[in-house]
Amino acid sequence: DYGAAISVRTDDEIGRLAQAFNQMADAIAKEDERKREFLANVSHELRTPLSYIKGYSEALLSGLARTKEEEQSHLRLIHRETERMERLVRDLLDLAQLEGQSVPLERAPVAFAQVIEDVMDMYRPIITQKRLTLTCDLDYELIVDGDADRLEQVVRNLLDNAIRYTPEGGAVTVRLSRFSDTEGELVIRDTGKGIPKDQLPLLGQRFFRVDRARTRKEGGTGLGLAIVKQIVALHGGAIQFDSDLGQGTTVSVRLPLVQEEE
Ligand code: ADP
Repeated sequence: DYGAAISVRTDDEIGRLAQAFNQMADAIAKEDERKREFLANVSHELRTPLSYIKGYSEALLSGLARTKEEEQSHLRLIHRETERMERLVRDLLDLAQLEGQSVPLERAPVAFAQVIEDVMDMYRPIITQKRLTLTCDLDYELIVDGDADRLEQVVRNLLDNAIRYTPEGGAVTVRLSRFSDTEGELVIRDTGKGIPKDQLPLLGQRFFRVDRARTRKEGGTGLGLAIVKQIVALHGGAIQFDSDLGQGTTVSVRLPLVQEEE
């Protein structure tokens, strides 16, 4: 318990020292609370797929499934929930690495437009399936000073969200352009369900979801944007969200360009 604040009501050095100590204790208590909350979230997120897996495998083991179809359906559910757990564990590990900086960025000149194009190609089938219009405008001259794998992850997570949260027939736009002499800007815009303005500041917090029950069902881990935010920060870049509920969302990411030598 860090609640024991020192009460010294003087303006001298001792008073200021007491104040500094109290602020430190406060910060430690907040960090502690954040950790507790994080652990509670992780347990909850893991427990849900586990209880599905346990329940349906028990049903299979005790021969409760009466038909071949029912058996298959149970197995599919078990498989789906296993995949969810796999994603969750992968994202958690990734986030821990990024936050702890145990695995530093491997920076090199990155042809960012090509990275974006490759990610878009991965998503073609689902884009077609959802009958989304994908428009892109990429400046192939821009060379980002960054970690190619991590940058790919940024594009993947953002495009994944744009597609996931945009209903059939909607539009997704991807643009890469020069922002300034030193920075390039990636803008991903969708015409999806949007995010309430007052919740925009919460984006990128671990496990934050606009509509918790629903987006969980849609398969996300709630860690994608936290990972994106961390990668952008490690690059010394910036990320910005803008959205209108029911109209769509725009995410802008600025990243440092390789500086040409004179
Ligand atoms: P998830 O795995 O749930 O998608 P993210 O960290 O990627 O987790 O995103 C956090 C939440 O932000 C999502 O659950 C969703 O509610 C909201 N969100 C993110 N991107 C979009 C978007 N393009 N349109 C609408 N909502 C979005």
